[in-house]
Amino acid sequence: MKIETKCIQSGYTPENGEPRVVPIVQSTTYKYTTSDAMGRLFDLEDSGFFYTRLANPTLDAVEKKIADLEGGVGAMLTSSGQAATLAAVTNICRAGDHVICSSAVYGGTFNLFVKTFKDLGIDCTFVAADVTEEELNNSFKENTKLLFTESVTNPSLEVADIEMFARCAHAHDVPLFVDNTFPTPINFRPIEWGADIVLHSTSKYMDGHAVALGGVVVDGGKFNWNNGKYPMLSEPDETYHGMIYTERFGNAAFITKARTHIMRDMGPQQSPMNAFLLNLGLETLFLRMPRHCENALKVAEFLEANDKVEWVNYPSLKSSPYYDRVQKYMPNGTCGVVSFGVKGGRKAAEKLMASLKLAAIVTHVADARTCCLHPASSTHRQMSDEQLIAAGISPSMIRFSVGIENVDDIIADIKQAIESID
Ligand SMILES: *Cc1c(COP(=O)(O)O)cnc(C)c1O
Repeated sequence: MKIETKCIQSGYTPENGEPRVVPIVQSTTYKYTTSDAMGRLFDLEDSGFFYTRLANPTLDAVEKKIADLEGGVGAMLTSSGQAATLAAVTNICRAGDHVICSSAVYGGTFNLFVKTFKDLGIDCTFVAADVTEEELNNSFKENTKLLFTESVTNPSLEVADIEMFARCAHAHDVPLFVDNTFPTPINFRPIEWGADIVLHSTSKYMDGHAVALGGVVVDGGKFNWNNGKYPMLSEPDETYHGMIYTERFGNAAFITKARTHIMRDMGPQQSPMNAFLLNLGLETLFLRMPRHCENALKVAEFLEANDKVEWVNYPSLKSSPYYDRVQKYMPNGTCGVVSFGVKGGRKAAEKLMASLKLAAIVTHVADARTCCLHPASSTHRQMSDEQLIAAGISPSMIRFSVGIENVDDIIADIKQAIESID
């Protein structure tokens, strides 16, 4: 099936007389006739639903759809994008381990690595998003367990050289994790370029309507976890009577363990209602993404031609240092987010934003409605100036998330707001 068809059809095939639309199974629990039948589920001898913290039919359908869209062997929904990263990293890392992460990742992800994982004993080395292959290779240590980047960084819009990242990771027998929230599988599928694990905040374009918080972890199913570095997957798990994930589940070992171990023990499960709403968003993702990209390019070109605008960053602009890389990896476009700075710095940025009428100031990005945000005073306000610069954020940066309204109305709004700056 083509990706448009997968958005509509994948994950759920009803039988005679069953609901045509994925139903919301709003039940925490599932009935069995014997304790033995249920015991077999607990021992992972049979597959089936027994408690919604582990699995739920609504979530199951949406997980299968997203796995299909990304080209993975399985997926696990989570309560948020943050929970997806937490679950994916702790699935293979524990105290004493080391990870490498791009310094330009989303602020929440940065905090998770710099603070919470550190407190848990997982040490992180940050590298620039446009790190050279040599520098990246030199960042690996004996105890490095994964390499993490965003395909298009939020909000600095740096486009990672995923093939090079994958090559470095694999040269050190380590998997590449890619947060693919901004391009979505419509514009870019990291597994096809060598990524092993793909993550999303589904709260963004996948939902697309800013109604349901969520996240997802997708397993590419190609990484060899039996290389001696991942005892959590390749050695007996006593909580399942000594079962070994790589033996029992083969190329789905990672995603199975994420569910049966991490989701079982930590519990950041998505609600069935949110999964249902996410599925509605996924059905139109292939219609919305091209419109976001088309509108964003027009907004970026308008801004670039305006005297009061100091700089514009949009990876599909000819002037972008990432233009060639975008043509290679994402020829149909990246995302709807444009960032820019106006002359007059932080003050002028604040004045411009306060003058916008159609574009709202919200702590969100990547949905149908045009919105904007000032990262230095909101999502990234915990960062020092040095950290801000490393993350590719200037104090005057406006992150402008272009929606799918008529682009003439969006540009007219920006135009009048720019004119309000004196
Ligand atoms: C928003 C976002 C997250 C965090 O997702 P939540 O759903 O808000 O928890 C992670 N990564 C990226 C790239 C994001 O944009």
